[in-house]
Amino acid sequence: MNPKAIDYLEKCGKENETYGNEQWKPERWAQTYDGGYRWGIMTSNGSESLNSRYKAERRLPVVGLVEDTWYKTVKWFNERKQIALARQAEGERWPKEIQLKLMKHTLKAAAINVITVDIERGEFEAQVPFEKNNPGVIWKYQVFLKRDYQPRDPQLPSRRAWCKCRKPQLIGIPCLHVVAVCGHCRWDVSDFVDERYSKENMVKIWSTGDFHCYEDEDKSPRYDGPVIYPDKTMINRGR
Ligand SMILES: [Zn+2]
Repeated sequence: MNPKAIDYLEKCGKENETYGNEQWKPERWAQTYDGGYRWGIMTSNGSESLNSRYKAERRLPVVGLVEDTWYKTVKWFNERKQIALARQAEGERWPKEIQLKLMKHTLKAAAINVITVDIERGEFEAQVPFEKNNPGVIWKYQVFLKRDYQPRDPQLPSRRAWCKCRKPQLIGIPCLHVVAVCGHCRWDVSDFVDERYSKENMVKIWSTGDFHCYEDEDKSPRYDGPVIYPDKTMINRGR
């Protein structure tokens, strides 16, 4: 809609002198084209939130800061591993958040009309009729779903579930349209969640096997190197 904005964004992929006049590369600035590498995360809030968790420790000397970070990390990993193990013990396949999302989608999906385009290729069309401002408009989403998906299956661009809205490709969780197709075919929608979210992988992620207790301080190797003092003229207040 804004020609100036288009002009600006088109140059984003071309400003690298090393590669010269590159093709337009929307993956440099549009998450929808990033191939799923950011898992739908748009902000740096995750790392910013750590700043507030370490507010008190930031005043400590370096050794204290490192120690405290270590203890906190071990605690967090343990807590999360317990949650993942409990989920596994309950016999649940996916984390609670994903199941809630799928349930919400299932409720909404009842209003979507699904057309089978080619069952062999796993191609469908999800027709979404409820546009708030314009009730007459139907939005059409092309969906590819294959239950017997193989990673190198040439029929599918990537992953087990593919939708024109790109959400399954970006975050690995079935979108509203994929859920509607599953309802239409009487398939289990949880078969189309990315394996990386499985309870087994959740347990693996939070396994504390790589943490080991500190030795006592007197067993640490002695430091014989130079002692470095900060240059007082370089110390500034604030950020
Ligand atoms: Zn979709």
